[in-house]
Amino acid sequence: MTLMIPFDNSYAHLPENFFSRQSPAPVASPELLAFNDALADELGLDAGTAQDRAEVFSGNRTPQGAAPLAQAYAGHQFGGFNPQLGDGRAILLGEVVDRNGQRRDIQIKGAGRTPYSRMGDGRAWMGPVLREYLLSEAMHAMGIPTTRALAAVATGEPVYRDAALPGAALTRVAASHIRVGTFQYFAARQDLDGLKALFDYTRARHFPQARTPQDVLEQAIERQAELVAGWMSVGFIHGVMNTDNTALSGETIDYGPAAFMDSYHPVTVYSSIDRNGRYSYDNQSRVIVWNMAQLAGALVPLMPDNDAAIADFTETVNAMPARIEAAWRRRFAAKIGIAGARDGDETLVNDLLALMAEAGADFTNTFRDLARGTARDHFPDAGGYERWHARWQERLASETDPNARMMAANPALIPRNHRVEAMIQAAVAGDMGPFHRLLSALSTPYDEPAPENRDLATPPQPHEEVRQTFCGT
Ligand code: AMP
Ligand code: MG
Repeated sequence: MTLMIPFDNSYAHLPENFFSRQSPAPVASPELLAFNDALADELGLDAGTAQDRAEVFSGNRTPQGAAPLAQAYAGHQFGGFNPQLGDGRAILLGEVVDRNGQRRDIQIKGAGRTPYSRMGDGRAWMGPVLREYLLSEAMHAMGIPTTRALAAVATGEPVYRDAALPGAALTRVAASHIRVGTFQYFAARQDLDGLKALFDYTRARHFPQARTPQDVLEQAIERQAELVAGWMSVGFIHGVMNTDNTALSGETIDYGPAAFMDSYHPVTVYSSIDRNGRYSYDNQSRVIVWNMAQLAGALVPLMPDNDAAIADFTETVNAMPARIEAAWRRRFAAKIGIAGARDGDETLVNDLLALMAEAGADFTNTFRDLARGTARDHFPDAGGYERWHARWQERLASETDPNARMMAANPALIPRNHRVEAMIQAAVAGDMGPFHRLLSALSTPYDEPAPENRDLATPPQPHEEVRQTFCGT
C-alpha cells in the first residue's frame, strides 16, 4: 500500500512572499534508516512499505496533497543580522492535523537546493541527521517541548564536506517552523502587510487566547522561559541560539552542534563555531532574553503608537529574567526533591552546583545519585559535600516523598556525546544497531536503566570525551 499523508495545508495559502514553491531534488537510491511508527500513527499517516517511505521521505516522490515550499526568514546569527536566510536545505511538504487536533508541519531537511541556499548544497550527511533524530526524540522523552523526528533516509549519494560523506535526509515534525527570524524578515523589509499576515497566522495557530501583539509577546516569552529552564535542568546546550533557531511555538528546534553536558561547568561550550561562548550553557538564559527583545522589536510596527509600544514591550522583555529564574528554581528545586520552592532554595541549589563545578562532577549522574544516596561519590572533597548534604537533609525534612520527585526530575540517561559519535561512526559503516539501541534506551530516560543499558549511563573516559561538536551542515 502506498503511503498516504492526510495533508491540510495552511502556510502555502499565505502571501507568495512568505516562501518559494520548491520540490525536493531527487536522490540516487534512498534507503530507510529509521522510521518513527508511533509518531506516524499520531499524525494519522497510512505508513506504506519501507521502500515507499524511503521514496517519500527522501523527496523522490512527492506525496499527494503536498504543497512543497521553502520558507523565507531572516535572523541574527551570533548577534549579526542577516535579512535573508530562509530554508536553504529544508522543504516543508505540508501540514497535517494530528489525532489530538494539533496542526503539525512535516518538513524534509537535506532535500536539495532552494532559492535560499546561497553557497550551500542543500544537503545533509548522515551524522547530523541521526544526531538530530536521536537528540530530538530523547528531548521529547524527557518531557521538554521539541520538534520530532519522523524518518531518516540515506540518499545513496555522497555529500562533500571536509571529505565525502554519506548523504541523508531527516523528516522533522514541528508545531510550526515560525521563528523569531520570520517576524524579523518582514519587519526588516518594512512589509507591514506581510507582518500583519504573519501575526494573524501565528496568533491563530499558536496563541489562540492572545489578542494583541503584546499578548503574543508575553506568551512567547513565557514559553521560551520554560523551555530554556527545561534545557538547563537536563544539562542541554543548544549551541546555536540564533533568532532563526528560536521557534514561536516554544519547541526546541535545530539540533546542530547541540549537546548534553557530561561534567558540569557553567560556561561549557561544545560548538566549534561558538568561539566567545555566546551560547554557553549558562548564557542560554541571557541570550534568550536578547532573542525575545528582537521579537519585540519586530512586533513594534504592528502597533498604532510605536513609542508607547516600545515602552510596553521593553517592560515585558525586562520582566523575562524573573520568569526564567522562577522556572529555573522550580525545576532545580525538584531536582533536589523540593516541591514548593521557597526563598533560600536557590542558594541550596547554587551551592551544590558550585561544588559540582569545582569537582567537575557529572551533571546527570550527580543529580540522579541524590535519590540513590550515593551522590557523595562524585566529590573528592567529601567535607564540602557533607556540609551541603546536612543542610539539604534539614530542608527535605518538610517535604513528602522527595525521592520520587527526584527520580522524575533527574534523567538516568541522556544522549552522551561519545555514545552519539560512536553511533554515527557505526551507522556510516552500515551498522544501525547502536542507533536503535540508544533510541530505545532513551525513550524512558527517567526509569532505572535495564542491566544491559547501564553502560549508557557511564560518563566518557578521558580518551572518549567529545570536546567539540559541529553545525549540522
Ligand atoms: P542553521 O543555523 O544551521 O539552522 O542554518 C543557518 C542557515 O544556513 C539556514 O538558512 C539554513 O537553511 C542554511 N544552511 C545550512 N546548511 C545548508 C546547506 N548544506 N545548504 C544550504 N543551506 C544551508
Ligand atoms: Mg536553523
